[in-house]
Amino acid sequence: MNLDFSPADEEFRDEARTWLREHLPREPRPPEGAEMRAFDLAWQQTLYAGGWAGINWPKEYGGRGLTDIQQMIWYSEFANADPPFTLNDSCTFVGNNHGGPTLMACGDEDQKSFHLPRILRGEVVWCQGFSEPGAGSDLASLSTKAVVDGDELVVTGQKIWTSYAEVADYQELLVRTDPSAPKHKGITWVICDMTTPGIDIRPIRTMAHTTDFAEVFYDEVRIPLSNVVGEPNEGWRVAMSTLSFERGTAFMADQIDLSAVVEDLIDLARQRTGPDGRRPAIADDELARRLATARAEVAALGAMTVAGISRTQRTGMPGPEGSMIRLFHGELHQRVYQLALDIIGVDAFELTGIDGEGVWTGPFLQSFAYTIGGGTTDIQRNIVGERVLGLPRVR
Ligand SMILES: Cc1cc2nc3c(=O)[nH]c(=O)nc-3n(C[C@H](O)[C@H](O)[C@H](O)COP(=O)(O)OP(=O)(O)OC[C@H]3O[C@@H](n4cnc5c(N)ncnc54)[C@H](O)[C@@H]3O)c2cc1C
Repeated sequence: MNLDFSPADEEFRDEARTWLREHLPREPRPPEGAEMRAFDLAWQQTLYAGGWAGINWPKEYGGRGLTDIQQMIWYSEFANADPPFTLNDSCTFVGNNHGGPTLMACGDEDQKSFHLPRILRGEVVWCQGFSEPGAGSDLASLSTKAVVDGDELVVTGQKIWTSYAEVADYQELLVRTDPSAPKHKGITWVICDMTTPGIDIRPIRTMAHTTDFAEVFYDEVRIPLSNVVGEPNEGWRVAMSTLSFERGTAFMADQIDLSAVVEDLIDLARQRTGPDGRRPAIADDELARRLATARAEVAALGAMTVAGISRTQRTGMPGPEGSMIRLFHGELHQRVYQLALDIIGVDAFELTGIDGEGVWTGPFLQSFAYTIGGGTTDIQRNIVGERVLGLPRVR
């Protein structure tokens, strides 16, 4: 096993670092609405123009056809460039990280040639319509129904927790097309144009003061059958492909970013007064121990990420092992921001935004989402138990 980066990787790293120095925006990202969408799409367009969009996407779909390791190097250079925003907080996230990859794996040629270039060029925003009020962890219980009428599906029902629905152009939508079939059958994965009549989007304000989420209501929404990805009633298989990207590789940027967050936290602990009211926080034994543990754990997360990438390169698709990384990452993310609040103390009550230098309270509040979104930690534990360790299913 060779754990060093190749000369080509190192050259790529230098190229990325130089480009980022010259092109990374320095202004803060607008927190919501049309301004946020414009900011995120402008950044995606800058990436595309510079040849940094779709680094690991195949060339035939407009990407650079480079390795996942090089994609990871890019994320790490981005995190080290001290950016005023994180890549995972972009409304281009779904298109780039699981909508686009699902189309590559399961879409037909027309769907790929229409949608993939638009995602990469930063022309469109995608969102995900999977969860419903009665179907989250148990996604296969979804009940939003779709009836075939001529060459269209007519969709009626409700989704919830749809991130960026308000600013999205397209949605990866799961609907029930055969209510008489067993629950994992009879589901269809369809591309929904969010401007279609009959869609009502109602934003949900979170405790972190963002309105990224929305409830989405569908009242006889007509979607062409040509938008079905895979076969009608075979959507569960397509959804598993989407979730394998979402749980396997989509959070790579965030995993890499966490190591820069821990270094910022160590600086913060040098600057802030510790619990004894005299010495810096870093001089406190317990805080120093937790900081050292966090630094070791982000290094372990980095190693797990590289191991996951190497496994995905061998098999072609992220496997259930991605759930181990997602689980460790989600819980570690929360520990890191809890530690930040313990260092800051009561000053943390002053609520700040989500992005930007020296901002800790907003991300702390947002960190609770890390053990829920994309499957809760309980669900990741079930996957690790059943599909990685091969333990018997308890029902
Ligand atoms: C930041 C964020 C972004 C999101 N974005 C989207 C999005 O864009 N699109 C979308 O469709 N959804 C999105 N979601 C929703 C997310 O996928 C669901 O919240 C998640 O799947 C859990 O579903 P639920 O909220 O219905 O909780 P439930 O499924 O009701 O779970 C409640 C509790 O029961 C536990 N539980 C449930 N079943 C089991 C089991 N079998 N074994 C052990 N424990 C179990 C869960 O772990 C949890 O603690 C997002 C969520 C977050 C936090």
